[in-house]
Amino acid sequence: MGEIAENYYKLVSELPAHVKLVAVTKTRTPSEIMELYNCGHRLFGESKAQEMVPKYEELPKDIQWHMVGHLQSNKVKYIAPFVKLIQSVDSFKLLKTINKEAVKNDIIIDCLLQIHIAEEESKFGFELEELREILESEEFSKLKNIRIKGLMCMATFTDDVQQIRKEFRILVSFFKTLKEKYFNEKDDFHEKSMGMTDDWQIAIGEGSTMVRVGTALFGERPK
Ligand SMILES: *Cc1c(COP(=O)(O)O)cnc(C)c1O
Repeated sequence: MGEIAENYYKLVSELPAHVKLVAVTKTRTPSEIMELYNCGHRLFGESKAQEMVPKYEELPKDIQWHMVGHLQSNKVKYIAPFVKLIQSVDSFKLLKTINKEAVKNDIIIDCLLQIHIAEEESKFGFELEELREILESEEFSKLKNIRIKGLMCMATFTDDVQQIRKEFRILVSFFKTLKEKYFNEKDDFHEKSMGMTDDWQIAIGEGSTMVRVGTALFGERPK
């Protein structure tokens, strides 16, 4: 068995059954991705549209592609026809563009709202107040071709476990607030995408339903 397959089976054996694993494939080659595919894995994530499209074209069509990185509005059209879930919705403008492209393709596109919880300014995502305004707006209520399935976040890059745990708890509390107020009737709204190679155990302890892991599967990313 190759190293990627070994890493995969080890990780899967440690994940609770209700937690989905998104294998993040940025900078990985199609043949590396096929090593996981051949283990039976079908759920992959990319952080750039321009990397996702050629991989989608080259690889088997039963792969489910999640967009996990910051997405520019002008790139939505390239992934809209096939993307399974856009996890990184971080502006109202982007959400409206996704809806527009979904209308064009006559589909509904599933989305997660990315929440800014990290201390780092560089990370993307909504603040809670900003989201409230959007979710209460008439403009939002008219977006019929998107389906909000939950929230996503990236914790601060730090060794401080308490800090990371605190941030995941903020996401969970936002999730509860939004669920009660805006998505109470909607079973669709149930995902908490949190946790990566260095913090997925903490994330699962705090209630993650979906982890996004690259390095622990494929090894260190080439610089
Ligand atoms: C790269 C990336 C990951 C995976 O990171 P690893 O530390 O390699 O597991 C997860 N989420 C997002 C948004 C990413 O860009």
